[in-house]
Amino acid sequence: MGDPLLEQARKQLAEGRLNEAESTLAQSDKPWANLHRADLILLRAPFDRARVEEACALYEEASSDFPDIARASMEKAKAWLDAAPDPMMEVLQEVFGRSQFPKMERKLIDGILQGRHTLVSAPRATDLSLLYEFSACMLEGKTLLVTTRLPGENPAIKMFRINPSLATGEVRELVGEFAGASEKILVLGPDHFRHPEIQESISDLRVELVVFEEAHTACDRSSAFTQAAADAAKALVKMQPPRILALSGMAPPHVLNGTGEVLKLIHPVRHTAPFDRPELYWGVSKSTEKGNTIATALQNSSGDALVFAQTPENVGEVAAALKERGISTVVLHEDMDAVQQERTLRDWERSEARVLVTQPILEETIKTEIRNIFLADYPASLELFFEQAMLAGRDGDPANIILLYDSGDKATHLAILDTLYPDRDLLEETHEALRGGAEEETLNPRALNILVRRGYLRKDSEGGWAFLEKETPIQRLDLSEVEDRRKLAEERLREMEDYAETRSCRRRWILEKFGEKPGSDWKCGGCDRCKALESGYTKRDPEAKEAVLDAVAELESRRMTVIGMARAIMFLGRPMKGLTEADIKELLHALVRDGDLVANPDGDWLSLNRR
Ligand SMILES: [Zn+2]
Repeated sequence: MGDPLLEQARKQLAEGRLNEAESTLAQSDKPWANLHRADLILLRAPFDRARVEEACALYEEASSDFPDIARASMEKAKAWLDAAPDPMMEVLQEVFGRSQFPKMERKLIDGILQGRHTLVSAPRATDLSLLYEFSACMLEGKTLLVTTRLPGENPAIKMFRINPSLATGEVRELVGEFAGASEKILVLGPDHFRHPEIQESISDLRVELVVFEEAHTACDRSSAFTQAAADAAKALVKMQPPRILALSGMAPPHVLNGTGEVLKLIHPVRHTAPFDRPELYWGVSKSTEKGNTIATALQNSSGDALVFAQTPENVGEVAAALKERGISTVVLHEDMDAVQQERTLRDWERSEARVLVTQPILEETIKTEIRNIFLADYPASLELFFEQAMLAGRDGDPANIILLYDSGDKATHLAILDTLYPDRDLLEETHEALRGGAEEETLNPRALNILVRRGYLRKDSEGGWAFLEKETPIQRLDLSEVEDRRKLAEERLREMEDYAETRSCRRRWILEKFGEKPGSDWKCGGCDRCKALESGYTKRDPEAKEAVLDAVAELESRRMTVIGMARAIMFLGRPMKGLTEADIKELLHALVRDGDLVANPDGDWLSLNRR
């Protein structure tokens, strides 16, 4: 008597019910069942890579019981694979006009098509569109692209784009239209997810892939966090799409982890684009005369430059100093209207001016040949710093990224934080001012927002303000959430200060912050710290002072006086090229006079002045 499962499968095969036969065989764990099932797969789908691989795995399992048959069958399967046209390569050629995948992209796309959640982190300027455009092409259902970015010049495939300014009803209608349209990708802004009706119409679509650009903005640990992105993430999670592709700008590991958590990506495929670019030079210049420092640097170099400054006033100051020195300069800041901003940017991109001085509102530019980036005020976070820096030298030629650091800049930053994270006094003042008839535009928008959310204010139907009675006075409001956010923002500022103050290789410092682990054979050669160690100098060079400070940082725990320290530095074998023990002694005294070093009162031993 034969095996009942085998009998059943045989009958199904005879009747041409191949799917059923395959599942019948799958119920058995006998080696012969694996063998038959693999044969069946190979017979039915010799060109389908994934299916052939499945068959090979089954042959492999059966190979201890049927070594000869299994080996021969696997060879046959491999021959099929070699002969088979790869449908993915065909699509790549026909639709995208490319003959090859960048290696990493193929692997990520394979994962996406297999239904894996994927989290990719890369500098903002990196083009990752192939990842989702290609996947959307291959998947049968629809793809949702959530982004705040403007459309690229020539997307390879047509997309269905919904203007963020449309009314809810119109958006709903368009989503309905998209369901029957030939386009595979629907482009929405995070703000669209605020409306339950829109959310509902989206959930009626057969969405197979959700792509979330700038996904790290949904994580409240990121400096780029926005409530709209966080709300959109929540709505997307509720939809339970089969796969999410989260694209994030460069972010430190804790922000990337947080992004995965917000989107509930369980065991996602993770990929961080390599971002160490040997053509970039990282330096810090301690300067209070920023405009002049930048002008001098620009006069001693060639090529176009980008200068970031925090406020419109600072933009103006730096630009004035550059213009005074005859350097052609244009400015971009938030007080200009969109048309003016656009025109300025184009002027600079067409190289009609050499330098663009801008607030960090500039996020992207088509200009790839930027030779120098100056950060006139230190950015509010490492993430922001890195995104700005990555605009340098995208043509692959050398470029400099110079941070101008004045610890006095902290006051500007703290003032900005005061407006971003209002305290109770500011809330109360805003409330009072509004009652007193102040114009809405003159008041802090964040404070107004909080007052509305907490129910102290409401817009009436005519657009005026209604004041509501609340039991809790504003002075007793629980603002812990706002305060926590502020604390995080202050931590991020401190991280930037650490970068400016670090005495070790800046490039390594950045790599490690973003989760890369440079090996022992890794060499920098592209930062001011390393350069100072390599080159010789005279005691008048700022680099000589920096090198001596570096050495003191290493030795200060040994509590040495000026004489002891000078001798120890010579013995340390550090490349103090050209400096004698007497030079070092002189430098140490100078550094004490300048306040960089302190001679501690209990025994005159030297240490860094940490103010
Ligand atoms: Zn270095």
